[in-house]
Amino acid sequence: CGIVGYTGRRPAAGILVEGLRRLEYRGYDSAGVAVQCGPDLRAVKRVGRVSQLARALDQERLEGCCGVGHTRWATHGRPTEANAHPHAAGQGRIAVVHNGIIENFAELRAELEERGVRFASETDTETIAHLIDEAYEGDLLDAVRRATEQVVGSYGLAVACSDEPGAIVATRRDSPLIVARGQDGCYVASDAIAMLDATRDVVVLEDGQAARLTADALELFDEAGGAIDPVITHIGWDL
Ligand code: GLU
Repeated sequence: CGIVGYTGRRPAAGILVEGLRRLEYRGYDSAGVAVQCGPDLRAVKRVGRVSQLARALDQERLEGCCGVGHTRWATHGRPTEANAHPHAAGQGRIAVVHNGIIENFAELRAELEERGVRFASETDTETIAHLIDEAYEGDLLDAVRRATEQVVGSYGLAVACSDEPGAIVATRRDSPLIVARGQDGCYVASDAIAMLDATRDVVVLEDGQAARLTADALELFDEAGGAIDPVITHIGWDL
């Protein structure tokens, strides 16, 4: 339902929680974040309010400057902690947040299970995490593209990988996604309202486009993987 992501020089967890609070108006049943902490991506998820997630993060501090977060409105699988996003694959090296519905997830899941993949949730989203992990050969952008090629349905995605600490890859189809470069890092969100504290100059991703965010750069790519120049949209005060 709601996606946020940040990579930069500031601690990510607080920025992600604040972004999720801004997205609460859309409704949700659970929330979670994953942050790159040293060599590992670590996740905390809770059923219920973003404030409950925030309290959990006071106990279990996720210290790091790159992460992704999500408020979930369940479509496939009950609202449980296991079904909350981010979803992990590859012993936790991939973390995925997803808005939308993967229509061919049952086929994809059956194929993945035949290849020995074990699932930790009932969601359609987890199939994408495993497809990205399978496709990963050292280039997250390329892995996300190869995974989404197999997917039928709608998606806004933000993906982190502990083999590429500090990078987030975002892409979309029939689900909104916005990326931006602020003063202290780069942002991704499903709604610009989640990042307006940081910047009002955003890039509205189009279907099939992808972005690679790092602390210092925001790169944009077309469906074939060619680099493209970002078109900046200024969000005025009337939002
Ligand atoms: N289909 C996904 C799920 O049920 C994502 C739902 C959403 O957009 O929040 O987990």
